[in-house]
Amino acid sequence: MANVIVVGSGPNGLAAALTLARAGADVTVLEAQDEIGGGTKTSQPFGDGILVDHCAAIHPMAVRSPALAGLELHGLRWAWPDVDAAHPLDDGPAALLHRSVEQTAAGLAADGRRWRRLFDGPSRSYDRLAADVLGPVLHLPRHPLLLGRFGAPTLLPATTLSRAFRTERARALFLGTAAHAMRPLTEMVSSAIGVGILTAGHHDGWPVAVGGTRAISDAMTAALRGLGGRIETGVTITSLDQVEHADAVLLNLSPRAALELCGDRLPAGTRRSYGRYRFGPAAFKVDFAVEGGIPWRDEGVGAAGTVHLSGGAEEIIANERAVASGRLPERPFVLLGQQYLADPSRSRGDVHPIYAYAHVPAGYAGDATAAIVAQIERFAPGFRERIVDQHVTSPARFAAANANYVSGDILTGSKTPGALVLGPRPGRNPYRTGARKVYLCSAAAPPGPGAHGMVGFRAAELAIRDLRLG
Ligand SMILES: Cc1cc2nc3c(=O)[nH]c(=O)nc-3n(C[C@H](O)[C@H](O)[C@H](O)COP(=O)(O)OP(=O)(O)OC[C@H]3O[C@@H](n4cnc5c(N)ncnc54)[C@H](O)[C@@H]3O)c2cc1C
Repeated sequence: MANVIVVGSGPNGLAAALTLARAGADVTVLEAQDEIGGGTKTSQPFGDGILVDHCAAIHPMAVRSPALAGLELHGLRWAWPDVDAAHPLDDGPAALLHRSVEQTAAGLAADGRRWRRLFDGPSRSYDRLAADVLGPVLHLPRHPLLLGRFGAPTLLPATTLSRAFRTERARALFLGTAAHAMRPLTEMVSSAIGVGILTAGHHDGWPVAVGGTRAISDAMTAALRGLGGRIETGVTITSLDQVEHADAVLLNLSPRAALELCGDRLPAGTRRSYGRYRFGPAAFKVDFAVEGGIPWRDEGVGAAGTVHLSGGAEEIIANERAVASGRLPERPFVLLGQQYLADPSRSRGDVHPIYAYAHVPAGYAGDATAAIVAQIERFAPGFRERIVDQHVTSPARFAAANANYVSGDILTGSKTPGALVLGPRPGRNPYRTGARKVYLCSAAAPPGPGAHGMVGFRAAELAIRDLRLG
């Protein structure tokens, strides 16, 4: 039986382990932290009963992910808010994103037709498109025409694509989603992440995992153990020598960490690429326990699972540019989660968890709490008075909790055009490191960040072929 070691128990590490165990390998996962799950943890920082997602919260790409297929047997359930996402504006009603393209377009009035033109076709075909999208960008497509139609706009700067819309509401809705990439929105390919999430979301919605995102890693852990797999926590791997006995080693790590671990065993080209690998801006997160929820000025925002707080198009563009160049704007982009709307089990009576993080420069050492509260107050006067408790996660804390989040970069690397198209190194297969039997399976490789597990799944498929399993 092939003996496989996975270093790291993030969703991609666990997905790789599970895929290999299903193919008959004897799998052990080694995790540095005391808790399993990487970016999929959920805990109760405010005492019993209020569930808070540490990192990943919203899962449009996970519902249809082959890496998570069958996990409902191990307790994974999705729940959807009434409104997927909202983008409130200072003047006029908020832009609301619904799973239905039609409903979203109806709310965008003059831009409805343009929103439909961009998202209706690709989202209807997402079932087939997912096979091409949830893997390396450079590959022989299964559905070339579909992929071409979906892919062409993703190559554009988000600012260029946003000019297809005439209203501030549609522009803000699109740019607020494109800002998930945490890159300057004037850069080529900066539309890709926004178009990807919106297309998947128009097919599957923006759900949360019932009981918190940890339900994803709990289900994968249960399934893995059921197949005889093992997970050891509190084990930090610093050298390949520690895992040399394995027939295959899958690294759920950043390329820089993979370089430190493997050293000269990597070919010169990989060493150069991994050595040059760049990290991006950070997140500064505050979780709030809020009595009675947030008093949003716009009712629609009160029904949304995700809220983008950054005013109109110009402000979003300026914010992302500032953060990428190392400056914290006065009113930073804030991503806010009201997961309890879809999953009331996360609240304690009328006290609800509110999840909010600001985009801040890499390694930001200041306190962005007041800026986050001010952004919420801007669209929900009276919010401050409802805060019962709060819990801060600074970039340094993110980095300490997970070595992949260098300087608080929650995306495991800067999503530059090169990184988006080629992955961590040029070559046909981004999961190969070039060292014999060693694979990379973290969010640094395509299809990139998220709790969908698809990087682990793709890397495991490759290892299964190499090991002639299954
Ligand atoms: C604040 C925040 C918000 C986010 N929001 C979303 C969201 O809404 N939706 C979404 O899909 N995604 C979101 N993400 C991103 C998502 O969490 C990550 O992309 C995802 O967790 C990456 O998974 P991974 O398996 O590649 O690695 P990770 O989850 O980063 O896990 C890597 C694991 O490897 C371990 N490790 C590292 N080095 C070593 C070592 N040397 N030895 C042993 N173990 C090691 C780490 O401790 C960690 O457990 C968010 C992330 C953050 C932080």
